[in-house]
Amino acid sequence: MRVRILSEIVFAGIVLGWAAGALAQGPQIAFTWDDLPAHSALPANTTRVEIGKKILAAMKAGGLPPAYGFVNGVQLEHEPLSEPMLRDWRAAGFPLGNHAYTHMNLNQRSLEDWEADVLKNEPVLQKYAAGSDWHWMRYPYLAEGNTAEKSAGARKFLLAHGYKVADVTMSFGDYMYNEPYARCVAKNDAAGIAKLEESYLKVADAEVDHSRAVAKAVWGNDIPYVLLMHVGAMDAEMLPKLIELYKKRGFTFVTLQDAEKDPAYAADVDLSLPAPAWVRNAPVPPQPKPDFDVNAVCK
Ligand SMILES: [Zn+2]
Repeated sequence: MRVRILSEIVFAGIVLGWAAGALAQGPQIAFTWDDLPAHSALPANTTRVEIGKKILAAMKAGGLPPAYGFVNGVQLEHEPLSEPMLRDWRAAGFPLGNHAYTHMNLNQRSLEDWEADVLKNEPVLQKYAAGSDWHWMRYPYLAEGNTAEKSAGARKFLLAHGYKVADVTMSFGDYMYNEPYARCVAKNDAAGIAKLEESYLKVADAEVDHSRAVAKAVWGNDIPYVLLMHVGAMDAEMLPKLIELYKKRGFTFVTLQDAEKDPAYAADVDLSLPAPAWVRNAPVPPQPKPDFDVNAVCK
């Protein structure tokens, strides 16, 4: 009897210790990167390959696990010099996924056209991501279909072709900053760059609270967040500071595959399930935005 009580106490201690460990770990983020190998305007002082190297270096320096990069094969036609960026990504042990060949918007095109665009990207992934699990789809523009039929049709198609969906549950509009940043670099406008940098981090910080409020409203608790990033010049510059910000906010970092093991993502990894219609059980604050017109900077 005494032994049994003792073992139960030990067991309870292990459970409490595990729970404390889980709490101490804090919320988690999985970084994901869109539009490889070329996103937005390219400032004259850098190259696509250098942008990729900076992103990989900052991720490694921050101790982050490998992050998916979602490829648009058409960029290899537009900017053939960007090609080594895909090789660097894989050489660093980072996986690649499908973002459709021409970044086609499913909400604006037919399902047939969109499916063809997804398939046209596959030889690129077979070439650069051989031997890794590239069957992860990031919908371009996060557009999952403007009608129920299209949306269900896309899921059926992706299921038949062995894909999982790379969801997005944290996004602060990082892509908005890359064009004005390139203009500021061209004008050598340090004040403009400083203004963009300050806003970038401020909005990213506010989006932490917003994403967590949405998760609490829908699921009642934190989920592992899947963060949407783009391989832009300013993103590459800001990444060390952004990672620092998330660490200060108590986040640790996981892979997309691990994040999507959470039940919140069940319908993303099992496309035979119906697309979920999330219900918010509490009001959430509006999505944070810059408090000035980012597109007017350095014009
Ligand atoms: Zn994209």
